[in-house]
Amino acid sequence: MNKLQILVVEDDTPVRNLITTTLKAHDYRFSAAVNGKEAVMSAASLNPDVILLDLGLPDIDGVEVIRRIRSWSNMPIIVISARSEDNDKIDALDAGADDYLTKPFSVDELLARLRVTQRRLTQMQGNTNQAAVYVNGRLRIDYASGCVYLDDEEMHLTPIEYKLLCLLAQNTGKVLTHKFITQSVWGSSWENDVGSLRVFMATLRKKLEKPSGSPQYIQTHIGIGYRMLKIE
Ligand code: CA
Repeated sequence: MNKLQILVVEDDTPVRNLITTTLKAHDYRFSAAVNGKEAVMSAASLNPDVILLDLGLPDIDGVEVIRRIRSWSNMPIIVISARSEDNDKIDALDAGADDYLTKPFSVDELLARLRVTQRRLTQMQGNTNQAAVYVNGRLRIDYASGCVYLDDEEMHLTPIEYKLLCLLAQNTGKVLTHKFITQSVWGSSWENDVGSLRVFMATLRKKLEKPSGSPQYIQTHIGIGYRMLKIE
């Protein structure tokens, strides 16, 4: 019940078959496209819940496919890229992709990404009216008062830490690039800002994850950015 409809975009037949076989075995509904043009058309006609998008396509560049889809839809897009295409991955995230898988990936990794996306979708549907309070496990952000609580104890955050936390919270489940974060928080993305971001993120994490046994809220994607995880 309630299984996601997934659009698989991959020109490499063995990889596409691996993905579709996995989806079938786990009761996901899916359709496939083998190039960028077909991907954009299928995204528009099928309105899938999630798109798994290979970045290296024979016709249109995967990043361009994301830009076109983002002109009308916020549907989650998970990009699939080769390890040598790190810059493309960052461009894809900046263009509006939600997450990424790096080839070669395991079936377990693919399923884990889909579960993260499913949680994000559920949350997006529940949040049609901008919620005034954000709750994630033991963490609570009261946007109106600007207060953050961990286990009902107020956390003392600097203004920048608070801004970072709100940005991550509003994009829970989504990988945010260094560039996106620094532009949102500082309005620029110089190399110095990325250095400062690392420092602020480290202190924010320390505060968030200080209580022993506290779950990991912020995931680091080395060379790429950060993601707030939804705690079960
Ligand atoms: Ca390819």
